[in-house]
Amino acid sequence: MECVFCKIAKKEIPSKVVLETERIVVIEDISPQSPTHLLLIPRDHYPTLLECDDRELLADFFTVAMEVARKVNADERGFRLVVNTDEEGGQTVFHLHMHLMAGRPLSGRMG
Ligand code: AMP
Ligand code: ZN
Repeated sequence: MECVFCKIAKKEIPSKVVLETERIVVIEDISPQSPTHLLLIPRDHYPTLLECDDRELLADFFTVAMEVARKVNADERGFRLVVNTDEEGGQTVFHLHMHLMAGRPLSGRMG
């Protein structure tokens, strides 16, 4: 059975899409931890960052993050990008994704 983010990327389950590119879909996180909390989800399935050897996609994450940050005005006061990786990294959905968080001062501590 396919994973939840594959289904979101294929629009088989609904989500609030903020931006789409050829390779990445950006949606609102269902359980936001900051006023702006977006998820950058690649259309291709990689379980974690460690399985992804696609350099073009890895570069895309950052260019799409900047594009969507500007779109939601998160470029004005700043934002945080996070890729939780595997068990101790706090990953809960095993389809590679990047969080973009903004809209409040984020803790200086990283965990
Ligand atoms: P992570 O802990 O890095 O694997 O993050 C997974 C994120 O996906 C969490 O912040 C969840 O709130 C979010 N999430 C899980 N299911 C959905 C969904 N159906 N739509 C939007 N966000 C989701
Ligand atoms: Zn998937």
